[in-house]
Amino acid sequence: MNRRRLGVLGHPIAHSRSPAIHTAAFEALGIGGEWSYEALDIEPDEFAERTAALPADGFVGANVTVPHKRAALALADRASESAIEIGAANTLSFENGEIVADNTDAPGLLAALPQSPEGGRALVLGAGGAARAAVWALVGAGAEVEIWNRTAERARELAAELGGNAIDAEGPLPIGEFDLVVNSTAVGLEHPGAERDPVSTLEALHLPPSGGFRPGQVVVDLVYGSADTELIAAAREAGATTVDGLEVLVRQGAASFRIWTGVDPPLDVMREAAR
Ligand code: NAP
Repeated sequence: MNRRRLGVLGHPIAHSRSPAIHTAAFEALGIGGEWSYEALDIEPDEFAERTAALPADGFVGANVTVPHKRAALALADRASESAIEIGAANTLSFENGEIVADNTDAPGLLAALPQSPEGGRALVLGAGGAARAAVWALVGAGAEVEIWNRTAERARELAAELGGNAIDAEGPLPIGEFDLVVNSTAVGLEHPGAERDPVSTLEALHLPPSGGFRPGQVVVDLVYGSADTELIAAAREAGATTVDGLEVLVRQGAASFRIWTGVDPPLDVMREAAR
């Protein structure tokens, strides 16, 4: 039998940990001979044409990452309610000549949290694609959501569309007031070969010099790299519970894996492969 092919579509994509995560799960389940997962570098102007051609090459689905998540939704014949409301898809399934779009970034974030955010106060930093999924997930889960973004107008637009309240901060953000803080900006992202950013993550995010975190709080950083981000390090130092971007990546990957295979993947195997 031909192997069922999966992949992650992005540009650039060489750094992606998704092939390692999914391949390790297939091997652990003893289905590595039936399924494969690879990284495909696709330029934005070729996205629609190359993605539509994947089923003929044996692909049954794909993850989609920067900068194609909106284009993936636009290309789909059908989409889940979450993908439509978030306005982006990170998971495609090729079924009987149709492209079906889903978004597992939102359930992936919720699954990565140590407890339900229902009834708690959550602060989402950012107003880009990752923030849209975070706000949609947290509002849907019953949290009281505040949104801060460097460009305040974008936070207001996001709140008007998906719920929550935009906050304008003159001074440092009152970070200690929140039960949950989610960094969904790109601040803290490492750029291979680049000098370290002279502006610290905490400063760029309008946080106090120490971060302002406290015990009992949950702090999530969607950004991940080769080591702890500055945000995760400051939160841990302050005694907060931390969830890093690799855990969220593993959880969204696990949700996509379930959609394609119908099987629950081994999370520990995926985590080990991610790191
Ligand atoms: P995006 O749509 O380009 O949004 C970028 C966001 O970062 C905007 O809110 C932008 O603010 C803010 N920003 C960028 N530079 C900034 C700076 N110097 N100071 C303050 N704010 C700044 O990107 P995205 O797709 O949402 O992705 C954001 C991050 O999440 C990326 O690092 C991505 O790798 C990560 N991510 C991780 C996962 C995971 O599974 N772990 C999943 C999705 C995304 P403005 O509006 O003011 O420009």
